[in-house]
Amino acid sequence: MSLIPKSHPRAKSLFIREKLVKGFENGLVAKEGLLAQGRGEAFDYLLGEKTSRLAKNAIRAAAAQLLLAERPVISVNGNIAALCPKEIVKLSKQIKAKLEVNLFYANKTRKQAIIKMLKKSGAKEVLGSNPKTSTKLDGIDSARRIVDKNGIFAADVVVVPLEDGDRTMALRNAGKIVITFDLNPLSRTSHTANITIVDNVTRGIDLLIEECKKLSKRNKDSLQKIIYNFDNKKNLAENVIQIKNNLTRRARIA
Ligand code: ATP
Ligand code: MG
Repeated sequence: MSLIPKSHPRAKSLFIREKLVKGFENGLVAKEGLLAQGRGEAFDYLLGEKTSRLAKNAIRAAAAQLLLAERPVISVNGNIAALCPKEIVKLSKQIKAKLEVNLFYANKTRKQAIIKMLKKSGAKEVLGSNPKTSTKLDGIDSARRIVDKNGIFAADVVVVPLEDGDRTMALRNAGKIVITFDLNPLSRTSHTANITIVDNVTRGIDLLIEECKKLSKRNKDSLQKIIYNFDNKKNLAENVIQIKNNLTRRARIA
């Protein structure tokens, strides 16, 4: 157990880091997942480590899209299972989405550890480990192309937090509407997804659950309008401007 004092200026970030390290030690997180977290942290720093208005707009559009979905699926990797397993399960129940474990660095033992963690966090069913229902996505040449026939393969909307660009592209090519959490507004995933929430998933996930609850009373037209009014490219560009403004401000007082 670590001894991070709550008063430490980077306490929150250190707690998140510790969750990942623990997840690594428990066999949930891949080595590469630790590096992905590091890249995310750097962008979080530049963004001011808070949920911006821009992220809130993306969360609202994502909630509307999830409520309109007929077959939504949430794709879970090791980092997500280590960072926010309970919240991911809660989101899946709120929007009646299936959960599927899909790993960049495929590994049976790790997959089972993630499934176990999701079940311990309240999930009834977790797809992704049954060879009888597995099939392949076109346009991608690694283990990540293996998906479940009843899950991602059949989905109309897929949530892929902390995803790699190749896979996001393969999902788009397969006709899926893709929603992601990605702190890097410059990444291929950010630019390929239909809706990118530029926020730390550990902060944004609760807001997404809340927004889904709030918008659940809205009719289809009203939800469509929210999606229509959201422009992902513009949102990403504004995130880059936000980073630029933060840096300019810091440069002035430095
Ligand atoms: P891409 O493949 O999309 O170009 P990449 O190769 O730079 O991106 P990957 O490791 O493939 O990065 O994907 C992980 C992404 O997840 C990174 O863009 C990183 O910024 C983001 N990320 C990491 N941790 C978090 C987090 N806690 N919350 C939100 N995003 C995160
Ligand atoms: Mg990548």
